[in-house]
Amino acid sequence: MLRIHAVGGYNEVGKNMTCIEVDDEAIILDMGLYMDRFVAVQEKNIEMDYETLLGEDAIPNDAVIENLKKKIKAIIVTHAHLDHIGAIRWMGKKYRCPVVATPYTAEVIKRHAKGIENLISINVNSSYKISKNIEVEFINVTHSVPQSAILNIRTKYGSIVYALDYKNDNHPTLGRKTNIKKLKKLDDVLLLIADSTNADEERKTFSEYIAKEMLHDIIMGMELGDHGLFITTFSSHIARLKSILHISKLLGRKPVFIGRSLHDYIAAAENLKLVNFSKEVEIIKNAGRAEKRLRTMNKNKNDYVFIVTGSMGEKNAVLTKIVNEDLALKISPFDFIIFSCEVIPTPVIQANRKILEQKLHRKKARIFKDIHVSGHASREDLRDLIKILQPHHILPAHGDLSKTASLAALAGEMGYELGKNVHILQNGQSIKLA
Ligand SMILES: [Zn+2]
Repeated sequence: MLRIHAVGGYNEVGKNMTCIEVDDEAIILDMGLYMDRFVAVQEKNIEMDYETLLGEDAIPNDAVIENLKKKIKAIIVTHAHLDHIGAIRWMGKKYRCPVVATPYTAEVIKRHAKGIENLISINVNSSYKISKNIEVEFINVTHSVPQSAILNIRTKYGSIVYALDYKNDNHPTLGRKTNIKKLKKLDDVLLLIADSTNADEERKTFSEYIAKEMLHDIIMGMELGDHGLFITTFSSHIARLKSILHISKLLGRKPVFIGRSLHDYIAAAENLKLVNFSKEVEIIKNAGRAEKRLRTMNKNKNDYVFIVTGSMGEKNAVLTKIVNEDLALKISPFDFIIFSCEVIPTPVIQANRKILEQKLHRKKARIFKDIHVSGHASREDLRDLIKILQPHHILPAHGDLSKTASLAALAGEMGYELGKNVHILQNGQSIKLA
């Protein structure tokens, strides 16, 4: 018997969590936060415990697998983004089993979910035997955080390929290309659980190399003069940070990272020797405690590139504090503010970002938005993946109905049939495939 339980991430972009039940065993794939609701809870400044987060819809509601608790053999996670690992801190211990992840992901979990003891680290492009009947292979993919993986779960009923958050980047600026060779070798794929976030984007997702060139074009090709240069991006996007450092050097300014989450993700990457930023760059973890340093920098802004947290307008992040004049570092008219990111399309985050932009406009900053390429596969990448794997069934995930329906429509174009071998599930629903 093989059953798939959609726990979270099937009604929204976030709180990803799926359970695969194979006879008398089961595994959980991902355990993420719904960032939009999580940010809302953070802003309330209330105690964050399991009940509160569940009540606020910030973590997956695992009621659908409540009776399977004893069967769960492992929690397996794909990559280090909080919408995939962030709920482990509050839910991980409910399941008395190991958490299995690639080394960078494990390193981030260690910092985020302190107290998770049974953490197993598996290199990309290698396998881990969970039990006699279930084996999982971590296939290297390009995304927007190091060591992301597509999971190939081998069972006696066939393989289940869990392909969320990946793209096929032919020119990655950090790490290896997506292991297409391996994907081409997979046969007998019973089910593909696929990323529908960008399934309605009719194109191929561009390489990270393009984002680097876009940044280069703005920073080196515009009249920056003596003005301040502030750049913000996702703190976990180590490849993007590496490009920003490279361009800062070309510009002849000193890059400075400011903010706790930037510090933490960089420290995790340095621990694994993926990068060595702190050797050449100043990293200020706590801006509030670096007033003197920031005051000096503020006097000589044209010597620096300030890489700051707060790309989503988070209330406690550095960019918001700078705009609110809570720090010694200030924004002056005509300073460059580059948003090297997209806005996560959820209501609280969109509202926070809008407020931040309005404040920046009032300060007469020059704003550059969406200097970014996505880490998610678009419609034509997804078509390639389906063609390569030729799965018997497809289950769209990582999005609300508008997104999952787009992927279902693509599958329909390729000969699949909704309800027969393409399945749209809502959170809390299950399907039996064997
Ligand atoms: Zn991701």
